[in-house]
Amino acid sequence: MSWRRTLFFVGFWSAIALAIEYRWQSSLGWVALSLGTGLLLVLRRRRAGQVARWILSPDEAPPANVGAWDDVVAALYRRIRDQVATIQELEETSTSAMAAGQALPVGVVTLTTDLQIRWFNLAAEKQLHLKPEHDLGQNLQNILRAPAFAAYVKGGNWSEPLTLKINHASGNYNLLLRLVPYARDRTLLITRDLTQIEKLETTRRDFVANVSHEMRTPLTVLAGFVETLRDAPEGALSEQQREQFFGLMSEQAQRMQALVTDLLTLSDLETSPSAEFTPVGITQILEVARTQIEALSAGRHRWDWNIEAGVNLAGNASELSSAFSNLLTNAIRYTPDTGTISVTWESLPDGRARFSVTDTGIGIAAEHLPRLSERFYRVDRGRSRALGGTGLGLAITKHVAMRHDAALEVQSKIGQGSCFSLVFEAERVQRAS
Ligand code: ADP
Repeated sequence: MSWRRTLFFVGFWSAIALAIEYRWQSSLGWVALSLGTGLLLVLRRRRAGQVARWILSPDEAPPANVGAWDDVVAALYRRIRDQVATIQELEETSTSAMAAGQALPVGVVTLTTDLQIRWFNLAAEKQLHLKPEHDLGQNLQNILRAPAFAAYVKGGNWSEPLTLKINHASGNYNLLLRLVPYARDRTLLITRDLTQIEKLETTRRDFVANVSHEMRTPLTVLAGFVETLRDAPEGALSEQQREQFFGLMSEQAQRMQALVTDLLTLSDLETSPSAEFTPVGITQILEVARTQIEALSAGRHRWDWNIEAGVNLAGNASELSSAFSNLLTNAIRYTPDTGTISVTWESLPDGRARFSVTDTGIGIAAEHLPRLSERFYRVDRGRSRALGGTGLGLAITKHVAMRHDAALEVQSKIGQGSCFSLVFEAERVQRAS
């Protein structure tokens, strides 16, 4: 009941009490007025109690019909609702910020200005071997005890990162770390494990060294012959010798050409997007490959072709043909004369399809098998070079396989022969109707 209505109520009853007093000379009206006012006060007290209870537990629904309190309750209720929404929003923002912090691939530790640990993410936990139950609240310098870190902290010039060697039972590695002051009284530690970067750098260095090494030999031979031919006095070389020199020079030039071609193929495979799902007629590709490879074998090997017709692939024709050719050329290279080479293209009962080349060649010892598709990895470097190998064939084949969702499988027994297969997933296999 509003104040205005209360005043009206009291005024109305006072007028009636006065009228009763005047007309019947009785105080009954005043008794009724006192009772009514008392009742009103009790009602007001009860409603105030309801409102107070609700304020203490605002999660419950607000009390209805509390008279003069209605406006107050409505305003309070609106305010509480707005605050709850703001709190929820803040909670969501902070939860997603924490989740993002946890998911960061770099380590992050939040610290006080005197380097006490307040929070750290999973990467930091792993890289610094921190334990939440033990290390929260600890001083970072008690954990990173290397003198270099103490000097870095003391130096105060944190614009450059510090590389720290971490020696741990699980292995030693280099960590790049940097302190960054933020807010008014906080410091951030950012850490980065350099193992992966160092591995990539080593791979890159090895690759450049390998390419230079592979190029140097044929270039030296070529340069040598060019000089001999240029400096030889008139008539010093017989026609037969000159022919022989030119033959050897052309061989070396071809070797360099093969290397550059393979390097470009590999670089194309590494940089261009994955092979599209374009229909590729495998039977036609294998017919062309058969003509070329049997010409290369020149009757030295026995060939056995089992090609299932009507089984095609979705992919890139030139990549597939290069992968098949690599396996076929290797079979020729590493199978002595009179050996047998079997080529099979078949669909498997589970819908997949397999291309396999089985030879009765020199075979490969088990310890080499996992590394065969590494760039420039050869079991016998001299033999591979002598046979015109670049050491990149299987690396190319493996890349093509990956780009076609296929697996390159190798089975081999030293002295007995090898079987190289490319197994394509059912999604890539298309049957000609
Ligand atoms: P390469 O140009 O040297 O043949 P690849 O990458 O094609 O390079 O093959 C890597 C190595 O794997 C070869 O040097 C050889 O040692 C071994 N290899 C590949 N195919 C065969 C095979 N069919 N039989 C025996 N060894 C093979």
